[in-house]
Amino acid sequence: MPATASDTPLRFAVFGHPVAHSLSPGIHASFARERSIRLDYTAIDAPPEAFPDLLARFAAEGGSGANITLPLKQQALAVCRSLGEHARRSGAVNTLTRRDDGWHGDNTDGRGLVRDLTERHGLDLRQRRSLLIGAGGAARGVAPALLDAGIGDLYVVNRTPDNTDALADALGEPARVHPRYFQDLAALGEFDLIVQATSAARGSGLPDLPMSLVGTRTAAVELNYGEVAIPFLAWSRAAGARHAIDGLGMLVEQAAESFHVWHGVRPQTDAVYATLRGRQATLVTAD
Ligand code: NAP
Repeated sequence: MPATASDTPLRFAVFGHPVAHSLSPGIHASFARERSIRLDYTAIDAPPEAFPDLLARFAAEGGSGANITLPLKQQALAVCRSLGEHARRSGAVNTLTRRDDGWHGDNTDGRGLVRDLTERHGLDLRQRRSLLIGAGGAARGVAPALLDAGIGDLYVVNRTPDNTDALADALGEPARVHPRYFQDLAALGEFDLIVQATSAARGSGLPDLPMSLVGTRTAAVELNYGEVAIPFLAWSRAAGARHAIDGLGMLVEQAAESFHVWHGVRPQTDAVYATLRGRQATLVTAD
């Protein structure tokens, strides 16, 4: 039940590490203003070893719900008493809701990505031969939704092959999902959709990717936004991708899905997206 203007604000937070630069508090504050809901949404820095205690304290202090970001999405699964379908299939949680019997976990990343690609960017995902780079929390979150959206074969590569295999196993569609090694990429031909879902550009840099992955109709999608997105977007434009899309729209749409889970209403997203895009004017998408 949404808080009214006379209620104490409902408490929400995003947990991550690092999290200081998260845009989620501002996004949720904008949605709440638009929907006349009073809420208090903060960012809580939680190193993995401290996350369970910090989350328990947040609940004890009246926290109603939380977003979970890197690197805690798989860890968050363990604190949940119950799971929604998307969290169960992806093995990762980005949205926690406090219920009487404990935390309920959901995952809105995939729905957010698909909504951004199909509605904001007008892409038809059906039958797209797809490559997913990464097998962490974000990759796990988006893979089931991409499959549900009707993509064709999904190839998965990741730095740690065990994680590639674990993701492919979790998806449970061996005829459609193909784990591969980075060294196989040059022999895999062109993809209609390439999703960059690693945090590599935050550290040592993107793995080498052959330009032969890109064809004239390729949509290259980077889940990161801001400076971290630049290397992959630059690579995909240089390789001739038709669309080069960063993760800003997904960020706004996954937040709107979380807002819907918590408050039962879906906010308008265009104004928030336009404001954030305006602030990142140097990083506009190519399509
Ligand atoms: P995560 O769970 O920590 O996973 C990190 C992933 O990146 C793993 O696949 C990891 O491979 C890979 N990786 C890390 N460093 C690498 C390197 N140097 N070379 C190659 N691969 C490397 O993080 P996450 O939650 O999946 O997030 C991934 C990125 O997506 C983050 O930068 C996050 O900000 C972004 N994201 C954006 C949105 C959005 O709304 N736009 C939503 C979610 C996430 P290993 O398995 O080998 O460790």
